[in-house]
Amino acid sequence: MIPRWRHRGLRYLNQAIRYAWPGLYTVVGLWFFLVPWQGSRKWIAHRGTIGIVGPAIERLLTLAPIQGGAAALTLGHTILAASEETFYDSWDHEYVHVRQYERWGPLFVPAYFISGWWQWMHGHHPYWDNPFEVEARNHPSEPMSEPCSSSSSSSSASSTSSPVQTS
Ligand SMILES: [Zn+2]
Repeated sequence: MIPRWRHRGLRYLNQAIRYAWPGLYTVVGLWFFLVPWQGSRKWIAHRGTIGIVGPAIERLLTLAPIQGGAAALTLGHTILAASEETFYDSWDHEYVHVRQYERWGPLFVPAYFISGWWQWMHGHHPYWDNPFEVEARNHPSEPMSEPCSSSSSSSSASSTSSPVQTS
């Protein structure tokens, strides 16, 4: 038995670790909101993640090493998406990647590329056969482990957004 207050404390600690462990990637993701890259973008807060969306991100994602470019890309708790619509459409899939970041922390990106490389070495597709992608395709909309994140963003998609214009 754990006293209620202590249980709560552990939950907050657990939450803090979940965000801090892949935190470096989240910071890199957020940086795309500020980087001087042509085109507008804005941010959206949604269920414990931050979306960075807009034409600037759309153009950036065309550089992704996937045929036709990527529609969305997860960096820690940041999800880069071509548009607001794409962000919400791909959220379930990308959120599985968020959970993978929470598990792997700083090791996630190397692990992702190594496993893609491993698939490629064995005659498989580095993206489609990558176990991280297979998991994301097979287990979408995994429910949040904490249904009551107490503060603001629990139920309704409380999206705060502020457009930012960059030259
Ligand atoms: Zn994916």
